[in-house]
Amino acid sequence: MAFTAELTYRSLGPLFYQTVAPTPVSEPAWLLFNEALAAELQWPEEARQTPLGLGYFSGNQLAPWMQPTALAYTGHQFGSLAPRLGDGRALLLTEVLSQNGQRFDVQLKGAGPTPFSRRGDGRAALGPVLREYLLSEWMAAVGVRTSRALAAVTTGEAIYRDTQVPGAVLTRVAASHIRIGTFQYASIHGTASDVKALADYVIARHYPQLATEAEPYLALLRAIAAAQADLIAHWMSLGFVHGVMNTDNMTVSGETIDYGPCAFIDSFNPNACFSSIDTQGRYAYRNQPPIAQWNLARLAESLLVLLDADEQQAIAKAMTVLNDFPAMYQTARLQRFAAKLGLQSPLESDLPLIDDLLNVLAEQQIDFTLFFRELSRAAATPGAAARALFAEDAAFDAWHQRWLNRLAANPINPAELSQQLLQANPAFIPRNYRIEQIIESALNGDLAPAKAFVKASQTPFVDDEYWAALPPADFCDYRTFCGT
Ligand code: AMP
Ligand code: MG
Repeated sequence: MAFTAELTYRSLGPLFYQTVAPTPVSEPAWLLFNEALAAELQWPEEARQTPLGLGYFSGNQLAPWMQPTALAYTGHQFGSLAPRLGDGRALLLTEVLSQNGQRFDVQLKGAGPTPFSRRGDGRAALGPVLREYLLSEWMAAVGVRTSRALAAVTTGEAIYRDTQVPGAVLTRVAASHIRIGTFQYASIHGTASDVKALADYVIARHYPQLATEAEPYLALLRAIAAAQADLIAHWMSLGFVHGVMNTDNMTVSGETIDYGPCAFIDSFNPNACFSSIDTQGRYAYRNQPPIAQWNLARLAESLLVLLDADEQQAIAKAMTVLNDFPAMYQTARLQRFAAKLGLQSPLESDLPLIDDLLNVLAEQQIDFTLFFRELSRAAATPGAAARALFAEDAAFDAWHQRWLNRLAANPINPAELSQQLLQANPAFIPRNYRIEQIIESALNGDLAPAKAFVKASQTPFVDDEYWAALPPADFCDYRTFCGT
């Protein structure tokens, strides 16, 4: 199939976007380029890591097949409604078809102000751009549904955050950038036919199998809820804390987007919350499932006009989906954690084994990633290597025996079990302290650590002592910041 670029999103009509050219930058330079992703997207060879590519990925040049577009959306931010948000520093350039015919958005992040910028400068800083590149590519490699990073460049221009920092532009690729907030926007600022047009577009693009359902919009709500349940369960199984699950940051495709203040848990703590502005812990690790449900309720409200002519009926239908969400999530969570523990044919009765383990990890402040990796090691008695991580063995021993008993229900030889577990439990995560070191080096002009991490991330289930190493003892109370 040949390269095709066509921005189908604009067929929704001008309510949904603004046309804005990127603001040129003075001296663009390469940070990183994702050759493998470029190949998957059939991105033109002459526009990859070439002067032309640098022009495109910095916003200094536009191809005739690009239509720079700022998307309009609403958002509940920390629970409060912001009716007009929209892309304040991002521009959708085009949509392309990948080798296997899947449609992807290609978007610049940090390409200059738009009518949605409010008081922001429309720019992004080198640190957050690199961070998003590295974290999203690691997530993609372990199989989490996520936006990807195609390119990262510096602008040669300083921008002002707390201090003066180098500006950068990220080129982000996603199945789409349609969010719960896009539906809220259509519902608040448009008519019922705008909401319908958006729902039909989302069904055609992300859930084509629903088009023939008797109640396609109710089915859409259910499908998005299921996608979110699976995504959040996947995050939870990796110790990932998104950090800013506002409705404008939650996609209807079920992909992770917006790697602002996110971070990974080191020693396990269900209350982990890294974002400096999240003082109440609204988006803490353990709140992610109920917050996803809260966000889905906002989606349901926006879809009500399509669910039934009678509002009470529409609400009743939406409630059937919302009420099912906790069970959808528990099912997805059971699957994810059962895979981490090698439990065949998992049942609801396995949940206490998972919950009790997490309690032990939290009580003894055991590193989440290291624990599951050590549990996976080949040994005559499966899991024996994990014991060394515990200061008090008794709690682990009691749990360990229960786990061995459960494994005995579906006998498997230890070597085979270990092979399975090593494929389910990553060898390393993007450790917060390592990411900080990588950014520090990049700020000093050394991109070697960033490139080394990208390379290691391609095989996240292969042991790597350097990237797996625990943070130094004095690295605690890690704080993250939104990109702004
Ligand atoms: P976020 O928390 O990154 O999802 O951003 C929330 C809103 O603020 C979105 O509408 C962004 O487009 C906007 N925004 C974030 N950073 C900037 C910036 N530097 N300039 C303009 N708008 C921004
Ligand atoms: Mg956002």
